[in-house]
Amino acid sequence: MNTKQVKAYGTETAEAPLKNLNIQRRSVAPHDIEIEILYCGICHSDLHATKNEWGGTTYPIVPGHEIVGKVTKVGDYVTKFKVGDLAGIGCIVDSCHECDYCKEGEEQFCEQGSTIVFNSQDKRFGGITYGGFSESIVVDENYVVHIPETLDLASAAPILCAGITVYSPFKHWNIKAGKKVGIIGIGGLGHIAIKIAKAMGAYVTVFTTSNSKAEDAKRLGADEVVLSTDNEQLKAQSKFDMILDTVSAKHDVNAYLNILKVDGALVLVGLPVEQLPVGAFNLVHGRKSFSGSNIGGIRETQEVLDFCAEHNITPDIELINTNQINEAFERLEKSDVKYRFVVDMASLKN
Ligand code: NAP
Ligand code: ZN
Repeated sequence: MNTKQVKAYGTETAEAPLKNLNIQRRSVAPHDIEIEILYCGICHSDLHATKNEWGGTTYPIVPGHEIVGKVTKVGDYVTKFKVGDLAGIGCIVDSCHECDYCKEGEEQFCEQGSTIVFNSQDKRFGGITYGGFSESIVVDENYVVHIPETLDLASAAPILCAGITVYSPFKHWNIKAGKKVGIIGIGGLGHIAIKIAKAMGAYVTVFTTSNSKAEDAKRLGADEVVLSTDNEQLKAQSKFDMILDTVSAKHDVNAYLNILKVDGALVLVGLPVEQLPVGAFNLVHGRKSFSGSNIGGIRETQEVLDFCAEHNITPDIELINTNQINEAFERLEKSDVKYRFVVDMASLKN
């Protein structure tokens, strides 16, 4: 297979800071498109994986899975994109195409396991996948979405992971006007969740550990803000239909199970390393559910981009250069971001 060397930003060990690397990209196969990467968001999952917090990381790793760019080449059989089109890539870059889930556009549940854009075994072409902190990428067109013209390109990037990860459970749990929704954590996922849940018509309460974000949450659209470090404030809450948990670290989920209404659901999207113990009585009383949700399929990723364009939803971003990625990782670890870092990939060229 022909390959091309491209510049990237990644690391060879869990301990070393990220730096400039060269990686190989495959040449364009008949169903592939090549994309010049313009912007790439930084998700907490990039940090978990780069530091090998979940285990199983293969080095070198090039993170980045909120990719926005421009099509520079298309394969012979490509029909959905042409050179010059804007394009987005999220977590999934391949799957079996054949199982019921793939056929339904729910590739995140592919029975063979979907291929993730970075640090994943590439079952079709071999090797390990490298993510969006790079100049360009080659992907099967079926795993690429169109970026609506009205969206700002840099701030559209976080919709490709953070946006779909919160939109998909809101759709699944039928969030709409009249529903009371809680959102735990105002980070990348949480702040977009506020905007999307409000656009769906829900009454939104956010739970934050950060005083400075509490003041900001209403600007983001929240109806109520609860400082979750204050037990009394937390206990005074009640009757949530659904609470979306975006927290990246260990925390007590029982306090949130207690404030759900009968049949309410606490839905975990955060992926802390530690276990989250659930008390039987917290769950059983009131027939409550403790559930989880993992990104979303390609069809729904296009849907959330279109939803954001229609409702003028723009993630709040801090645009940085590649040489600020290590500092951004440190700040992410301290919950110090308002509210998503996005890397201007043009900085990789300089
Ligand atoms: P993030 O920007 O770092 O936000 C996480 C937020 O959690 C923080 O801003 C903070 O909010 C809160 N938090 C952090 N430590 C806490 C603690 N010890 N106790 C209570 N709250 C704490 O991260 P993100 O990019 O939004 O990602 C969040 C999590 O979702 C990560 O674990 C990530 O890996 C996971 N994720 C999962 C999926 C999926 O498909 N399920 C997709 C993407 C990401 P406050 O300052 O407001 O308290
Ligand atoms: Zn992510």
